[in-house]
Amino acid sequence: MIPSQAEAMRSELHISVERREGSTLPCPLCARECTAHDASQRTWRHLNFFQHRCYIHAPLVQITCPDHAVQTIEVPWAREGNGFTLW
Ligand SMILES: [Zn+2]
Repeated sequence: MIPSQAEAMRSELHISVERREGSTLPCPLCARECTAHDASQRTWRHLNFFQHRCYIHAPLVQITCPDHAVQTIEVPWAREGNGFTLW
């Protein structure tokens, strides 16, 4: 079967985001700078970029605060209304 021109032109855009090793991030509860660590890898789907499906891959980042234990850091693109869906 010969793919249509639109089908042949379809491709995917994958964006990978990595945390810099040894980086620190503020605790979301007290703003104290804490060492960050990756918890797991996540993928979000964004609205299409022209005809291309768009995905962003990034770790779920957590910090360990001495006062508030383990806290998950929200990524900016996951906030409501930003057009990304956890995939
Ligand atoms: Zn804290």
